[in-house]
Amino acid sequence: MARVYNFAAGPSMMPLEVLQKIQAELVDFNGQGMSVMEMSHRSPAYDDIINETEQTLRRIMNIPDDYEVLFLQGGASMQFSMLAMNLANRGQKTNYVLTGQFATKAYEEGARWSDAVAIASSKDKNFSYIPKITPDMIDKDAAYLHITGNNTIYGTTYNEIPKTDRVPLVCDLSSVILGKEFDVSRFAMIYAGAQKNMGPAGLTVVIIRKDMIKDALDPIVPTMLDYKVMAKNRSMYNTPPTFGIYVAGLVYKWVEAQGGVKALEKTNTEKAALLYNAIEESKLFSCPTNIADRSIMNIPFVLENEALTAEFLQLAKSRGLVNLKGHRSVGGCRASIYNAMPIEGVKALVTCMQDFEAGVR
Ligand SMILES: *Cc1c(COP(=O)(O)O)cnc(C)c1O
Repeated sequence: MARVYNFAAGPSMMPLEVLQKIQAELVDFNGQGMSVMEMSHRSPAYDDIINETEQTLRRIMNIPDDYEVLFLQGGASMQFSMLAMNLANRGQKTNYVLTGQFATKAYEEGARWSDAVAIASSKDKNFSYIPKITPDMIDKDAAYLHITGNNTIYGTTYNEIPKTDRVPLVCDLSSVILGKEFDVSRFAMIYAGAQKNMGPAGLTVVIIRKDMIKDALDPIVPTMLDYKVMAKNRSMYNTPPTFGIYVAGLVYKWVEAQGGVKALEKTNTEKAALLYNAIEESKLFSCPTNIADRSIMNIPFVLENEALTAEFLQLAKSRGLVNLKGHRSVGGCRASIYNAMPIEGVKALVTCMQDFEAGVR
């Protein structure tokens, strides 16, 4: 069966080279006579895998030495709770910017633990833009400001990282990590689920400045949700998602082989420009997001009505362009074009849109 161009928001497309490498190593990893998924996380062979995965991520993201890299479970959604319980004392003030559904969920979880204040929101226009954040909007005594770096559902992104003065900045980068360059030192903590740009679901990466990790938390916080415990045990306090970490390591090496995040950002910017230009030139398709805040990873676009949308999705599917249906809260279509989506996939989508507009059904 031929592989399709998969525009899903996540889990999403993986680089074919990585899948083939996994296939080649699946039953016998590196002469061990067993698969990585059969391997003890306490074995020297696995220790090499997790070390190498961490070191490769440190290289490709240029992560400073005073940051810990943690490989955790529970998805990005678990971090909504975990970060609040670790970075804020119970009832302490925290700040959030509401730029979409995940940002709102992060805020709601934060509010269960802390005195969470939504300092800005773009809900008034169905999250189609990023509100401007200036330092005077941020509470000086907030334990942190939480932002969602790229809003997967709505297709918006912070093209400028807000200045927070001394308030630590915490950022959910799930759908843009490794898709463009970030200066890690601007953030107190970054987290991301792997299933968008780093590998299979089941792994969440946390990058946290060491001075943000507290020696002792409120005793009500479960041991499994304590960053210090996870850091001290190099993410192996319990059995980590061993296979996911191995695959993420292969993806990181693939990123490096592509010329690193800088090179991928250049290609991603070209891919996004192709699609945005096609939408702008079209009379049939339009993009609901504010131009200055558009994401290069997730691109929503809408047609006049649902019947036309369904016809377009049908044509796209017949050409091997799948999972283009938009999230129900935006409607229409959405193309998620992460690192693993080749430019040929975007070109095929643009051609399909042009053909559809010319009357092809
Ligand atoms: C997908 C996504 C999440 C949720 O991730 P899970 O791993 O399913 O918990 C959170 N935030 C953003 C920005 C996402 O794109």
